[in-house]
Amino acid sequence: DRLRTPDAVRDAQRWTAHNYHPLPVVISSAEGAWLTDVDGRRYLDFLAGYSALNFGHRHPRLIAAAHAQLDRLTLTSRAFVHDQFADFCRELAELCGKDLVLPMNTGAEAVETAIKVARKWGYRVKGVPDGQATIVVAEGNFHGRTTTIVGFSTDPDAHDDFGPYTPGFRIVPYGDLDALSAAIDDTTVAVLIEPIQGEQGVVVPPEGYLPGVRRVCTERDVLLLADEIQSGLGRTGDTFACDHEGVVPDMYLLGKALGGGIVPVSAVAADADVLGVLRPGQHGSTFGGNPLACAVGTEVVRLLATGEFQHRSTELGARLHAGLHELVGEGLVAVRGRGLWAGLDIDPALMTGRQACERLAERGVLAKDTHGSTIRLAPPLVVTEAEIDEALTQLAAVLAG
Ligand code: PLP
Repeated sequence: DRLRTPDAVRDAQRWTAHNYHPLPVVISSAEGAWLTDVDGRRYLDFLAGYSALNFGHRHPRLIAAAHAQLDRLTLTSRAFVHDQFADFCRELAELCGKDLVLPMNTGAEAVETAIKVARKWGYRVKGVPDGQATIVVAEGNFHGRTTTIVGFSTDPDAHDDFGPYTPGFRIVPYGDLDALSAAIDDTTVAVLIEPIQGEQGVVVPPEGYLPGVRRVCTERDVLLLADEIQSGLGRTGDTFACDHEGVVPDMYLLGKALGGGIVPVSAVAADADVLGVLRPGQHGSTFGGNPLACAVGTEVVRLLATGEFQHRSTELGARLHAGLHELVGEGLVAVRGRGLWAGLDIDPALMTGRQACERLAERGVLAKDTHGSTIRLAPPLVVTEAEIDEALTQLAAVLAG
């Protein structure tokens, strides 16, 4: 039988911009931690949609919530109120310990929302002179792809040739509290930071850094905006990566897993003195907070409220990291991460991250390289011990050549 994969890969390449370099697998169905391609081959999903699939593919409770909502109401726009909106906002606000939630669709929109709210807060509450607001961000950040956000990216691929860039951002080394503190002045309205830098290769900052950032922000009357779009919602073994060091930001930025791998759902959560600065007409989105998104998002919040997924991430993450650490010196140079989230640096003399992912795919495990020889592992939180062991076995085999 002729394989369908090569044709499907070629056609996909033919009809789209080449802004991605996907692995040559063509997926047609999935369940839990498993994917099946058009030729019937099965793969363990160790990327989980860049953490958008924390609950696995087609989690029964999420699928049921989506089906039920599809049969009743899908979209109203925010011109009217719908009956799924309040529950979603309230339950997510409670999960975050914040007064208010503002739903959007994609992660980048949540980041844009946070930037706008922080600036308005700066002018209306802090008293920054009009047009002067600055926001401190970290080197190696990844916050999305809009023209404003890529303007403060330090990754040349993400940044170059997309200017002119939005002013008002100061970039400091990640993990360096003195540099961050020095970048703050009277114009500074916010520090925007990933508690763990995912796209940079699952980079965990030094212990004490995040509490230090919290302290500096409080002392200098600056909002701490935690981009938990990839790190949040159970990925690291807690609801939020900030929880590991007891840090409470002024605003949580959420996305990816909030939509249960079914619909794009993002949101920011903050107290009323911050999010309350927005008035009608100043921000919005046609699809933000739509009934389908809210129905799925509410079920996501209820899954997280059980604590089961955070627990799995902690327990299984320990197993994953123990197995990965055994491979340091056996083809891996370094391993980082927390919970079911790992960045691996492969010995560049052996192969690139891309080659490692291609070889893993041939062995039935899908993962994705980030930069150079770094790959990231982020299986769905429903993954089992046996599936982790299987992925480790295949990784060891790839590294052994
Ligand atoms: N922020 C972080 C930390 C991310 O990892 C991402 C996506 O990878 C984004 C923001 C952007 O999210 P989206 O692709 O949904 O716009």
